[in-house]
Amino acid sequence: MAKQETVEHKYVYAFAEGNKDLKELLGGKGANLAEMTNLGLPVPPGFTITTEACKAYLATGEEPDGLADQIAAHLASLEQAMGKRLGDPEDPLLVSVRSGAKFSMPGMMETVLNVGLNDRSVQGLARQASGADEQTSGGADRFAWDSYRRLIQMFGKTVCEVPGEEFEHALDDAKRAKGTHDDLDLDADDLRGLVDAYKKIFFKHTGREFPQEPREQLDLAIRAVFESWNAERAVLYRRQERIPADLGTAVNVVAMVFGNLGPDSGTGVAFTRDPASGAQGIYGDYLANAQGEDVVAGIRNTVPLQELERLDKKSYDELLGIMARLEGHYKDLCDIEFTIERGKLWMLQTRVGKRTAAAAFVIAGQLVDEGLIDLDEALHRVNGAQLAQLMFPRFRLDHEFQPVAKGIGASPGAASGKVVFTSARAVELAAEGESVILVRRETNPDDLNGMIAAQGILTSRGGKTSHAAVVARGMGKTCVSGADEIEVNVPQRRFVVGGQTVVEGDVVSIDGTTGKVYLGEVPVMPSEVVQYFEGSLDPEHIDNPLVRAVHRIMSHADARRRLAVRTNADTGADAARARRFGAEGIGLCRTEHMFLGDRRELVERLILARDNTEREAALAALLPLQRADFEEIFREMDGMPVTVRLIDPPLHEFLPPLEQLAVNVAVAQERGEDVAQEEALLAAVRRMHEENPMLGLRGVRLGLVIPGLFAMQVRAIAEAAVTVTRSGAAARPEIMVPLVGAVQELETVRAEAEKIIAEVVGDSGVEVLIGTMIEVPRAALTAGQIAEAAQFFSFGTNDLTQMGWGFSRDDVEGAFFWRYLELGIFGISPFESIDRDGVGRLVRIAAEEGRAARPELKLGVCGEHGGDPESVHFFHEVGLDYVSCSPFRVPVARLEAGRAAVETNGSDSR
Ligand code: PEP
Ligand code: MG
Repeated sequence: MAKQETVEHKYVYAFAEGNKDLKELLGGKGANLAEMTNLGLPVPPGFTITTEACKAYLATGEEPDGLADQIAAHLASLEQAMGKRLGDPEDPLLVSVRSGAKFSMPGMMETVLNVGLNDRSVQGLARQASGADEQTSGGADRFAWDSYRRLIQMFGKTVCEVPGEEFEHALDDAKRAKGTHDDLDLDADDLRGLVDAYKKIFFKHTGREFPQEPREQLDLAIRAVFESWNAERAVLYRRQERIPADLGTAVNVVAMVFGNLGPDSGTGVAFTRDPASGAQGIYGDYLANAQGEDVVAGIRNTVPLQELERLDKKSYDELLGIMARLEGHYKDLCDIEFTIERGKLWMLQTRVGKRTAAAAFVIAGQLVDEGLIDLDEALHRVNGAQLAQLMFPRFRLDHEFQPVAKGIGASPGAASGKVVFTSARAVELAAEGESVILVRRETNPDDLNGMIAAQGILTSRGGKTSHAAVVARGMGKTCVSGADEIEVNVPQRRFVVGGQTVVEGDVVSIDGTTGKVYLGEVPVMPSEVVQYFEGSLDPEHIDNPLVRAVHRIMSHADARRRLAVRTNADTGADAARARRFGAEGIGLCRTEHMFLGDRRELVERLILARDNTEREAALAALLPLQRADFEEIFREMDGMPVTVRLIDPPLHEFLPPLEQLAVNVAVAQERGEDVAQEEALLAAVRRMHEENPMLGLRGVRLGLVIPGLFAMQVRAIAEAAVTVTRSGAAARPEIMVPLVGAVQELETVRAEAEKIIAEVVGDSGVEVLIGTMIEVPRAALTAGQIAEAAQFFSFGTNDLTQMGWGFSRDDVEGAFFWRYLELGIFGISPFESIDRDGVGRLVRIAAEEGRAARPELKLGVCGEHGGDPESVHFFHEVGLDYVSCSPFRVPVARLEAGRAAVETNGSDSR
């Protein structure tokens, strides 16, 4: 033990000691510099200080023991390799000190270049650089003094927190004095003067002279890079990108090479394929006689990389060779930064490059064709979020439009149309062939027809699980919710935003991905990927590389996945579309949607029935309507399982709003009219009014309270199944009871249902399963008991999240989630992606205990999470049999289920 403590921890790695798999320890940049070094590519020598050193420093505020000595040893090797000493007055070695975390955080952390320059070594640098071209670089002196002023500026700002503007102002002053706007017009004397001015600024802010000791410069720069991990912008960026806060950054100390030593020098960036389309070829930019920051700062215009062939064929050919080699080695698109110093090519960075969703699919397909990766790996390299992006129509980006408001991107896509404020008007205008956008404060089930008719839905209230959002996603319709800058006035049929008034008939455009709202029509393009899923593009016969790649990867996902994918659908049309998208059954048919529109009056009669006769009459009228609904769906899903959920929503949704009714009655009374019937209705509505309807008389509770309601539905399901089966198709109904919290609830419903089924089904061969939603925490915790009475469980993760967290589904996202996200209490809404630790634990317990009690228990999920990529992986892990999601999410779920299966089998990950 004592012996182990004396073994010194290794905090510094020479490039030759690392490799690309050590990103956690060496950061992405360090790991890839090491990899390139070991491939024998021309990387300037250097070393990497580990993320562990950074973490130790951030924890204590001091460099860990041994770090200083290890840096000294590696610096000595570096000096030996370069044949120069850091800051040597005659021929100085200069180094760059660069951050580099495990995940790329572009521009979020610090870099200091030219470390090692001081009042004496600047002269040595000038002498060494004296080959520099007089015309373009302004000579060696100019180059050396420019390098020195850059060091003071970067060091001052980064290491000593000197306000950057002060240096900028001094530079502007120097240019003004010279009568120019261009840095390049400043000569060596001007820059020498600027160095003096910078030093004074440095002194004024720090109370000390600019450090002349090279090693001190180096140590302070390393410290500053460590500290930049916790800079405000880095913290914000990590939160946004969901990068863990405790990784720390590595620090790379690299011998400086200069691209600004004359016309035979330069710097550039390159991609091994087009990161936008995935097309093969050479993509990049080059800037002669410049340093990397000049390219980023856009000081001068770059030229296409192909120009380098003319300027410096030897370097160009070498670069192309290296790019091919890197692609072959990384087996992926790489992006590269390089510098040419007097005709000598140096590789400064490479990494697996970021790309668009389309390029991700196309490149994965190409790499399979090239034999570089197999299909499992191709599947691993794309994801459901990318596929979802490719499935929505998009606004054409070549048009300049400014958004007037920004809400929540509740259901992706792009839609333009005339503004309407009521469902009726939406239906009317749509019937005339107009595109319409339905604008409401929030929607409710009565808006359904309008939502179906509309191109898109815009609300000023509500979050990602508001009615508008959930229904729109279900329909694959664009929706922006919670755009609270918009003041909606339905009676006056207008809304006001930023002082502008938009009236019915005006055109707006909404982007359901970004949540942005535009006035006027932004042109939209359809998705080829949807056309393919819809069957109108044949992947074997069209020359579209994206569609071919999607087809190939989707086929592989289907071959690999263990999870089945079903859909949430309550109409024949939705069922048919979901089937085309690859659904293997219906996991949730919400029957409450079948009780709206002109059937509402029957439901009202059912709820308000004064006696059995009235109630039975209402039920008898509903029965054939329901039977027809189910027949249509069973026919569409011929041979596939269809889970029909018995009615769930709170009763008040079927009755007129209390306040409006009270006003109507009062007005009628005032006029002396006969209001006996309205009064009875008002009394009933008052009686049924609930403070928390989502926790009130819903689901199974309703079935137990209103005699005959569930029985009517069960009969309709069984009769429809028999009719469809007798007509030659195969109906496979599964009856699902909602909101069960105790096994006794389920047993009661089941006993009645079984009797009806036995009576209806007879010898038709139809088999009807009976199961339950698990969406109340108590159900999850007593799953062992409930499984005794259930043939299947389907997790209702919307309600399970609502009740698990105690978050009202319809309110919280708009109300305070922003603060929770800001505080990092969660990185994403738990209504969107399953909360693995809490709600997920309830799912896990219920799955395990349910299966322990009944091994053949079928398990699925039908909450919104069934179509969320991350959640699909979780459901795979806990061993569910299927996920069910809205028709548009079906391909995403298929893809992610395939990825989950491949990843569990241990495909090597990037
Ligand atoms: C659920 O709660 O997850 C569910 C699927 O039911 P609903 O959204 O209809 O309440
Ligand atoms: Mg529910």
